Amino acid sequence: MNRPPPAARHPSLQQALAAELAELESRGLKRRRRLLETPQGARVTVDGREYLAFCSNDYLGLAGHPALIEAAREGAARCGVGAGASHLILGHATAHHALEEALAAFVGLPRALLFSAGYLANIGAVTTLVGRGDAVFADRLNHASLNDAALLSRAELKRYPHLDLEALERLLAATRARRKLVVTDAVFSMDGDVAPVPQLLELCERHDAWLLLDDAHGFGVLGEGGRGVLSCFGAASPRLIYMATLGKAAGAFGAFVAAQSDVVEILLQRARSYIYTTAMPPLLAHVLMKSLELIACEEWRRERLMQLIYVLKQRLMVKRWRLMPSRTAIQPLVIGGNEEAMAASDALARAGLLVPAIRPPTVPQGTARLRISLSAAHEVEDVERLAFALNALQ
Ligand SMILES: *Cc1c(COP(=O)(O)O)cnc(C)c1O
Repeated sequence: MNRPPPAARHPSLQQALAAELAELESRGLKRRRRLLETPQGARVTVDGREYLAFCSNDYLGLAGHPALIEAAREGAARCGVGAGASHLILGHATAHHALEEALAAFVGLPRALLFSAGYLANIGAVTTLVGRGDAVFADRLNHASLNDAALLSRAELKRYPHLDLEALERLLAATRARRKLVVTDAVFSMDGDVAPVPQLLELCERHDAWLLLDDAHGFGVLGEGGRGVLSCFGAASPRLIYMATLGKAAGAFGAFVAAQSDVVEILLQRARSYIYTTAMPPLLAHVLMKSLELIACEEWRRERLMQLIYVLKQRLMVKRWRLMPSRTAIQPLVIGGNEEAMAASDALARAGLLVPAIRPPTVPQGTARLRISLSAAHEVEDVERLAFALNALQ
């Protein structure tokens, strides 16, 4: 009997990957990286051409701030470049420690723990706090890192429709899980809307659940002195676990989780994404101390941002498209179809304006959009130019 050679029965890994890539290409879903040739900012050079960009999470315009560049130099001179070890071996430097204390005080929680990225912070917090027999309740529009964290934890993952507190309450009332953890973006990364923190906390209290708030887009932007979503709502509770990233409004890199002292201690003892990874370069901790100071005292950056949001809403004449109701730096213009969203983004790029088109699966089917990110680094005229270009496209 003639058996086909193994390669014909099972495509080789190489063939399977080539087919998968061809499929992405044919569906117009293959991603390409643009080459950024200048520091992040409102004006950038990309692939050899100058643009006005509305793509970054550098909401306060700190990523290229001279004081932070100077702090990086000083930090490198003082602490070297690499941490050289994980936090629990010998990588936890005085600069990290001082930053943790400053962050906890800044957001008004007893203690904070630094992670190397927001992705790792969410993975660490969720997998440490819940496991088999527990349940995670997640808003449908949460960031991917929170979903991945819940899956990795082996707790049951129950997702509720975006901001639907009644659905959440039904799920909480019906569960027989031992430990319950509600996880939510504080500011939703593709919609720019803000979670109703006091109501969520109230539900958590009523149903004996914990609340993990991912404030990646609120830290530095919302609340008094940029203290984030907790300050914005005056929210406080021992059930709260607060997470924020330091690579967005803070202009650098990293993340932290802040909570009651024992919660933080257990993360330090058990979170695998904290333990089994090299500590962030201490020079960055040094930079972030300076960044925290700028966030707190340069109120004009938040005022500028609010002014730019106002200007965009004033100048944009929406016809077919819909600007989502957002009071944060993320201003999504929903277009609907994937091709139309891509075409709009391409037309803007030809006019020298960079605005990313976001398509499913990052956002729900039929809600492809331009995700306009405003920054204190923009001028009023920049936003007017964008609104004018968008008005001409619709
Ligand atoms: C960006 C982001 C993260 C991940 O943070 P990194 O520091 O970039 O890894 C987590 N959650 C939300 C909501 C984010 O927007």
